[in-house]
Amino acid sequence: MRVAVVGAGIAGLTAAHELARQGHEVLVLEGSDRIGGKLLVGDVGGVQVDLGAESVLARRPEAVGLIDAIGLHDRVQHPATTAAGVWTRGAVRALPPTVLGVPADLEALAASGIVDGVDVRPTPVPDADLSVGEYVTARAGREVVDRLVEPLLGGVYAGHADDISLRAAAPQLLALGDDPVGSAVAARAAADPGPPSPVFAGLVGGVGTLPAALLAASGAEIRTGCTVRLLERDGDGWRLLAGAVGAVEEITADAVVVAAPAPASARLLAEVAPDAAFALAGIDYASVALVTVVIDDHVELPGSGFLVPPVDGRFVKAATFSSNKWSWVGDSGRTVLRASVGRAGESTALQVPDGELVARVLADLAEAVGPLPTPADTHVQRWGGALPQYVVGHLDTADTARRSVAEVRGLEVCGAAYGGVGIAAVVAGAQDAVSRLLAGLGD
Ligand SMILES: Cc1cc2nc3c(=O)[nH]c(=O)nc-3n(C[C@H](O)[C@H](O)[C@H](O)COP(=O)(O)OP(=O)(O)OC[C@H]3O[C@@H](n4cnc5c(N)ncnc54)[C@H](O)[C@@H]3O)c2cc1C
Repeated sequence: MRVAVVGAGIAGLTAAHELARQGHEVLVLEGSDRIGGKLLVGDVGGVQVDLGAESVLARRPEAVGLIDAIGLHDRVQHPATTAAGVWTRGAVRALPPTVLGVPADLEALAASGIVDGVDVRPTPVPDADLSVGEYVTARAGREVVDRLVEPLLGGVYAGHADDISLRAAAPQLLALGDDPVGSAVAARAAADPGPPSPVFAGLVGGVGTLPAALLAASGAEIRTGCTVRLLERDGDGWRLLAGAVGAVEEITADAVVVAAPAPASARLLAEVAPDAAFALAGIDYASVALVTVVIDDHVELPGSGFLVPPVDGRFVKAATFSSNKWSWVGDSGRTVLRASVGRAGESTALQVPDGELVARVLADLAEAVGPLPTPADTHVQRWGGALPQYVVGHLDTADTARRSVAEVRGLEVCGAAYGGVGIAAVVAGAQDAVSRLLAGLGD
């Protein structure tokens, strides 16, 4: 069977790999001039670094399993330090143990000085979806949301606690029930006191090297610069119109996996799965920018980096001290920092030239950790439409889209818009989509 995959991000490439592994002929069509989507490596001041995603969740099996399956196990590296801080109230303060911002150690929290206190009020959780902000405010107080939950959610979704869905984006909080603080504290007290297993994994050379390795392992055919513009039925199969403006060609396939972000998927599905198209068209995306700073000298920096509560009104949303966090970066002998900027609904903050973006980031970094030597090089990576916003009700939205597509023989969807934005969740979603596609075709 010949399958066309639309989009060569980690979702599309995982789907291609899985289809090829099961003996199918795969053609991947990518609109931009490179593969990888939000995964990208680049050279900044002579150091190869990730300019997009930099780690995968190691606590679930799919991403690390895929890395193993394509023979990259030897390049897996866990963070050298995970001691993160919160830059608030005039200092970078040690982040105490939390479950997505809900305190799990009240003594460590008090010692951190991040909040004045926690307002513990067990409250029944309603059946209907609600925002993470509403859930935590009612049960732990607003300060916990503003200074702990917001910065942690901002790091993953670039979103706002009062918009983000508890059920779609924070099931680990929902699992804490009516008394999240009490449950988090009890779970931590009962936890195995031995060294914890690593939560995240990176790849020596960058997670951004994963897409090329995955494509090579799959043996799938790839066409870049080949935006898919139309998808329609062709007998039992499919007809796609794809290519650059003025060079659009017709491609036929027995089945199609659409692995593009929600806005592009909505356009492609408008005729063939209108309910899915309508649902996907309603998903908003946050844009972010990553500023990488390379300094020739060694600079002593605290831990893996810091998060910033939005209530503090800083420009920088988070900073990672990459040369502390990843030995493969630290081995360069240089100091490498990366700062992220931009949250949902705040794209105007990003509408400044690169030079100004860098200057504002450097000013924030200097205020947070002290004066820094003049960088040898800096780099700005802008990610427009970076992260889908899983707002209240998102599970229904994703379910509507998947069910609408499931009614169409030989068609599937996957990607960060559906069942989790992290790489591990996206890999899992792509593998599930291939299983559904093949099952639907009786394969
Ligand atoms: C800055 C940043 C840092 C992140 N860090 C992490 C991290 O450390 N760990 C983690 O787990 N997750 C991280 N994430 C999230 C994760 O990287 C993404 O959610 C995931 O990579 C998305 O994969 P995807 O394949 O669904 O989409 P994408 O990567 O967006 O890929 C979709 C592809 O489809 C192509 N396309 C779009 N329309 C068409 C069309 N009509 N025809 C053909 N091609 C089309 C696009 O060009 C793109 O290449 C990060 C995200 C960002 C933005």
